[in-house]
Amino acid sequence: MREPGPPHPPLPQHPSSRPPARPAPPRLPSRARREPGPRRDSPPAALTPRISPAGRGSPGGRGAESPAPPAAEQAAPLKYLRARLPEPHSSHGEGPTRASRCCRRLPPPPPPPACAPAYRRRGAETGPPHACALAAGGAVLCFVVSALGITAGSHRLWSHRSYKATLPLRIFLTIANSVAFQNDIYEWVRDHRVHHKFSETDADPHNAMRGFFFSHIGWLLVRKHPDVIEKGQKLDLSDIKADKVVMFQRRYYKPSVVLLCFTLPTVVPWYFWDESIIISFFIPAILRYAVALNAAWLVNSAAHMFGNRPYDQHINPRENPLVSLGALGEGFHNYHHTFPYDYSTSEFGWRFNLTTAFIDLMCFLGLASDRKKVSKEVILARKMRTGDGSHKSG
Ligand SMILES: [Zn+2]
Ligand SMILES: [Zn+2]
Repeated sequence: MREPGPPHPPLPQHPSSRPPARPAPPRLPSRARREPGPRRDSPPAALTPRISPAGRGSPGGRGAESPAPPAAEQAAPLKYLRARLPEPHSSHGEGPTRASRCCRRLPPPPPPPACAPAYRRRGAETGPPHACALAAGGAVLCFVVSALGITAGSHRLWSHRSYKATLPLRIFLTIANSVAFQNDIYEWVRDHRVHHKFSETDADPHNAMRGFFFSHIGWLLVRKHPDVIEKGQKLDLSDIKADKVVMFQRRYYKPSVVLLCFTLPTVVPWYFWDESIIISFFIPAILRYAVALNAAWLVNSAAHMFGNRPYDQHINPRENPLVSLGALGEGFHNYHHTFPYDYSTSEFGWRFNLTTAFIDLMCFLGLASDRKKVSKEVILARKMRTGDGSHKSG
């Protein structure tokens, strides 16, 4: 068994622990002078070879530079080491401690990524920019409002006069119509009345007999057929010209579109819930506008080509539930071309028909009235007389 070594004085007083040529250490506060410890610019004394069994007590070894530790230190060197290590941060204003100097040697944290200001507002910390839930919800709300401006406004109210609306509701629908940006109400009504009166002929602005692409978007890319202009000029639009709200929108249509279709959907998410300006422009404004346009165009294209004709098999428009889903109830197109004065454009009420639910809500609130509806008996008689029989199979 190894004999315990003789007790030795505290480390700082040992002559071998200090280089002889070093100047005297700076004067420390009284507390530091009362508590001798290892030198601040050298490794901890407890980590030196004093704890090495090979050099302990050997005159020629490294133990000669550092005396053997006391008995308690030999018994529990780790405990002794922890006890001698100072606190990480001095609470007496004595300057940086050993731990804080150690931390100071770590490499500085990397600078924040130099990204564009638009990306810095959102998404720069967690990856590529993404739309927050509020921006996505705002885009959906914007889509519904703009679609109602077309379906409940331009189509069912002003084109077909299938119900009556008070001034506040007409103002709201006019604003929603500008959000939709599908031509002003006056022009929309003129084109739609020509479409119903001369459906599937050259006088039809989006004649489906000229193919899917033409009826979907192509008719907006070419000059109108001369028959469309000629027949359109003969239509009676006196009721539209008498509506001051409609004519006011026609006068200020371009600025209203810039403000309501693009500027507001971009600025509101950016200002109110800190969405990036890029996301605000491309999701609630551009993407929403593109989706709403195609949903409306599908009524002119798909709903004139794909689906059953339970009410009149001699006309081209069809019943297309998918179009109804996207266009808020405008896909029951065989019914609508058979009974164009029905405010619901369908015999099924609110099924796939958010526009009908909206008009019913406006009537409940006292903002709309005089909804025109076709009776069940008339519908059934028409089905039996001119339908393709598809209603019997459900
Ligand atoms: Zn119509
Ligand atoms: Zn049609």
